[in-house]
Order: sequence, then C-alpha cells, then structure tokens
Amino acid sequence: MEDCIFCKIIRGEIPSVKVYEDDKVFAFEDINPISDGHTLIIPKKHAENIWEIEEEDLLAIHRTSKKLARAIKKAMDVAGIAVLQLNGKAVNQLVMHYHLHLIPRKSDGPEIPLTKWELVEGNMDKIKEIGEKIAAAIE
Ligand code: 5GP
Ligand code: ZN
Repeated sequence: MEDCIFCKIIRGEIPSVKVYEDDKVFAFEDINPISDGHTLIIPKKHAENIWEIEEEDLLAIHRTSKKLARAIKKAMDVAGIAVLQLNGKAVNQLVMHYHLHLIPRKSDGPEIPLTKWELVEGNMDKIKEIGEKIAAAIE
C-alpha cells in the first residue's frame, strides 16, 4: 500500500532495525520500545487487521513469533515475553498494517502494561449466554 508506514519499511523507503525476513514476513525493532527487545512481526502483504489477513500469512507470523521468542531469550536476559496484537482504533491500533508485538520483560524490569489486571468474578449466566452466541456464529 502506497502510504502505509509499515509497507514503506518493508520496501526500505523508511529505515528500520530489521531482525528477520522471509518471503512472507518482516520483523524489526519498535522505535518506541515498551522494553528492550520490543519487536514487531508484520506480513509482507498488506492487511489491516485480523479480519483481513490471509490465514497463511497469519500462520507465518506465528511461526516466526516462536523463532524470534527463542532468539530474544537467547540474546537477552529475559524472564518472560508478552505477545500482543491490536485490531481497530477502538483498542488503540495506531498503525493500520497488521503487526504482532513481542514484548520481553527482564526479571527485575517494570511490569508490561496490559499483562496484569485485577481478576473480578463474572456473572456465569452472562458468560454462558455470550459464549453460546460466539459458538453459534463460528463459520
Ligand atoms: P499499535 O498499532 O499496536 O498500537 O502499535 C504500533 C507500533 O508501531 C507502536 O509500538 C509504535 O512505536 C510502532 N511504530 C510506529 N511507527 C513506527 C516506525 O516508523 N518504525 C518502527 N520501527 N516502529 C514504529
Ligand atoms: Zn501496509
């Protein structure tokens, strides 16, 4: 896509710190890292979000996430890695080209936002009703 920042990164029109590339995916360091080693994996074929991306590109991204998680652990002192992916402006997706975040945390590092929330017991009837609706909508 002509004006997409991440398509420009793939084409080399915007510089990036590339860590991996194959025929389907491109992976590079985030320029506003939440923690050291914050890495993004994107499909080479432009797709905006989880609804648009082709299944084989999604599989390639997740295969790559395992490869890179292993590399990040080997290269750095990492105690855990959060894998995060946002779809839609409502959940603060900023770049409208699908991307999977790998966000490492060192054992003495600060908490990664969104990985620690208070557990509040839900209403079981409501949970069931919603679960049934989702299950019935599966194609
Ligand atoms: P999200 O859309 O999931 O909210 O996050 C977009 C991510 O892309 C942010 O973490 C942001 O720092 C990163 N980002 C935005 N523009 C660039 C860029 O030009 N280069 C790099 N390396 N990362 C970017
Ligand atoms: Zn794009």
